[in-house]
Amino acid sequence: METPGNLFVVAAPSGAGKSSLVKALLELDSHLQVSVSHTTRKPRGQEVDGREYWFTDMATFRAMVDAGDFIEWAEVHGNCYGTSRRAVDARLAQGEDVVLEIDYQGALQIKQLFPHAILIFILPPSYVELRQRLTRRGEDPPEVIEQRMVNARHEVAQARHFDFVIINGLFETALFDLKCVVHSQRLRYAAQLRNKSQVFSALDLIPAQHTT
Ligand code: 5GP
Repeated sequence: METPGNLFVVAAPSGAGKSSLVKALLELDSHLQVSVSHTTRKPRGQEVDGREYWFTDMATFRAMVDAGDFIEWAEVHGNCYGTSRRAVDARLAQGEDVVLEIDYQGALQIKQLFPHAILIFILPPSYVELRQRLTRRGEDPPEVIEQRMVNARHEVAQARHFDFVIINGLFETALFDLKCVVHSQRLRYAAQLRNKSQVFSALDLIPAQHTT
């Protein structure tokens, strides 16, 4: 399904810096909106319902799956997460760009449904650095960090299915790379034709409308 808006999907192993990069990108780019996912996990810290996630019980989540409300959903670290169709379809149809910050399983489902979606994978510079970041973050006990490191090897291997790979060694460099990917999609012929129709018209690149 091709839509006037771009659908960007960002995935990464836990600790690679995906959330910080997406947050910084959104602050710089007012034309980009992030979709708020549904999850069955409990809120953490200062998280607010409807801001970070729509926090949902398992029965409601299952009912939404059965009703076809999600364009993708997956179980991640023992909880369910999903992107609702409503959150995305209308915005894309209006020509707005949407970013999904989801795991690789969801990203691959999105590519099936939206072949024009732009899949971006964030890699850490090394496993040593990834472990240091997870430890520095101080969110998880050692056994959870070990589990995340085991999962990371499998997740990193999924990068080959993505359109773009960004290595988050230096944050500012990775952010620049992410901005470049987003910007490049807005320079595609179809996007320019849609958004700069006056220029195309002045250059006689748009055939005159037939009037009868
Ligand atoms: P967390 O619970 O730490 O916020 O997120 C855990 C993982 O679930 C992260 O990799 C996050 O990107 C992913 N995630 C968040 N929302 C969704 C979603 O709607 N669908 C999928 N497939 N993954 C999601």
